[in-house]
Amino acid sequence: MKTPRRHRNITATRLFSDAYQFIRAQSFVANRFGRQFHRSRDYVEIDITYKCNLKCINCNRSCTQAPSNIEMPVADVAAFIKQSIAREIAWKRIRILGGEPTLHSRIFDIIDLLINYQKTYNPSVRLVLGTNYFGNRVHQVIEQLPDAITLKSTLKSSRINLFKPFNVAPVDTRFNRFSDYSCGCRIIKACGLGLTPSGYYMCAVAGGIDRIVGYHLGRNALPEESDTLSDQMSAFCRLCGHFGFQWPTRRARLSKTWRLAYRRLKKERIEAG
Ligand code: SF4
Ligand code: SF4
Repeated sequence: MKTPRRHRNITATRLFSDAYQFIRAQSFVANRFGRQFHRSRDYVEIDITYKCNLKCINCNRSCTQAPSNIEMPVADVAAFIKQSIAREIAWKRIRILGGEPTLHSRIFDIIDLLINYQKTYNPSVRLVLGTNYFGNRVHQVIEQLPDAITLKSTLKSSRINLFKPFNVAPVDTRFNRFSDYSCGCRIIKACGLGLTPSGYYMCAVAGGIDRIVGYHLGRNALPEESDTLSDQMSAFCRLCGHFGFQWPTRRARLSKTWRLAYRRLKKERIEAG
């Protein structure tokens, strides 16, 4: 039986680095020393669906707070590969994420495309699939995945997990009143560019936020080399609980901006029938 490598979201090192990030993102520090993070040219994460079978509290893709069956068309993954080849971008790592990516109805077509890209154009790229590794259906798909795919998981067994409070918007907190949101966070560098059903973002988390708030800031093609994506950082990091420092929690936390955003989306969905 295939068992994914265990991944830990919260570590002491990360908490220290979050505290440092918070200091580096204060306007007067960022003005003096520049931004700590820039968008990645090495790593990319693809959120292929927002379907999930676990519905965790504080999910940073809003799979619990605003469930969705949306799936990325396979053609979007093919276009990403085509543009990467045309622009001679040799990704070092591509992560396939969600939601729970194994629930995408065409997961094996997506995997085939990526493996073909690896074999033909970029033999050194690492292909990683992040899974919750929860439930029979997920296990069945994982068993059939080729060995070229590295599995990574936080091995969740329940919807209650220790997470940063994604839905506490920094803009709703007093201690962030001097923060420069265009600084982003370490996820831009460590996880990389995000390709999501809403387009390309400096991180995949931002695509998940845009699904809720509807700013429509996703790029519809692989961002140009000169595109810093800083407009996205200014718009989305002010809403994201990954920004700067916040204590991890197992309790559901929701600040005012998020409460209104989910309420508005729910109303729009009801009106749209
Ligand atoms: S398993 Fe991941 S994507 Fe699914 S609800 Fe939990 S945190 Fe969200
Ligand atoms: S949206 Fe969130 S995860 Fe993405 S860069 Fe901003 S703070 Fe980090």
